[in-house]
Amino acid sequence: MSPASASRYRDFAARLLEHDGALVEPLNPEGLEAMLPASVQHTLHAPELVRLGFGAELPPEAQRVSLESDWLDRFGHLLDERGRWLQRVVEVPLPVLSQPERIIEHGLVLQNAIYRLSRVAPAWTRYLILLLRYTAISDEKRVGMLTFGLNLANGSAVDPLVDDLLSAALSTEDTAGTNVPADAHLPPDWPTPRFLSRWRNLVCKIPMSLLGLSETNTIGYYTGLRQEAWQRLRRQHTDSARERLRLEAAEREYQAKVADLRQKYDLRVTTDLEQALILTSPVQRLELTIKRRKGERRVTLDWSPLARRLEPPPCEWSYTAEITRVVCDDALHLVSPAGHAPCAQCGKNYCRACQPRRCPKCGQAS
Ligand SMILES: [Zn+2]
Ligand SMILES: [Zn+2]
Repeated sequence: MSPASASRYRDFAARLLEHDGALVEPLNPEGLEAMLPASVQHTLHAPELVRLGFGAELPPEAQRVSLESDWLDRFGHLLDERGRWLQRVVEVPLPVLSQPERIIEHGLVLQNAIYRLSRVAPAWTRYLILLLRYTAISDEKRVGMLTFGLNLANGSAVDPLVDDLLSAALSTEDTAGTNVPADAHLPPDWPTPRFLSRWRNLVCKIPMSLLGLSETNTIGYYTGLRQEAWQRLRRQHTDSARERLRLEAAEREYQAKVADLRQKYDLRVTTDLEQALILTSPVQRLELTIKRRKGERRVTLDWSPLARRLEPPPCEWSYTAEITRVVCDDALHLVSPAGHAPCAQCGKNYCRACQPRRCPKCGQAS
């Protein structure tokens, strides 16, 4: 486990054991010592005193808790179903944003539309955070953890904030003591079909996050190239044909690379949901008016005081945390460039949020 996930697991295990009446002391590096009540000893098949280590290096005489060890299953028995869904309210002071326009400039690139910041106001939101354990089998077997997060208010994929949100949630003991104001207008849970459509997309992305470091860098490079070119385009306020060609070439190269990697690795991936957490917290809500041709639409982006940053813009088709978005003509959906890509058969660009199943021109399946 990486040091970050090792200490996250240590905190999680400590909290769980304490909740069930154990006396827990942290040990360095990334370990704990616990004195267990009889019921917990029984469920965990463990003696009264246990020393556990979660990192690469173990505290003296500690047993290793890794993704391959049976300790996770044992904790799972202790957790049963009650801990799979956690709810936390984290209330923190909400700073006033001094330059919200600049925050948006650095956090949103619209390829084909303009926007105006119409309002900044304190609000509350709920985040859905998922911890998945994956098993990837190609020539070797790899096991690991992935964390995903969605802002339920607007569907933003909060990848860049998720570690901060998770640690804030896990370091909050008691949710009953905190009162969410009655007028907070919290976003509701998503209807299952809406959630599943994002979920499928998210699970499809997992193989990409599993590819080795150099490949990830290659993909990062092409993504970076794409964003840089668009940012430059936007700065110049012109339709530079040369930039556009360069961008399209990079895009083609990127897609070819991705296809190549998929084939090369022939990955089969299974995932298990380890934990789902709903985090309720205050945010500064930035309301934008997006304009495309004659159309106009309001969207919101939240700035979180827990991560001290703006979330990525939502993609209304997929789970994507990059900042570039295309606005569709018909409904003014915000979608990632892949969500407005040309049809594989006839080449027509179309919005996958409007037409999730097939191309409106030739009927080719999306
Ligand atoms: Zn088509
Ligand atoms: Zn659309």
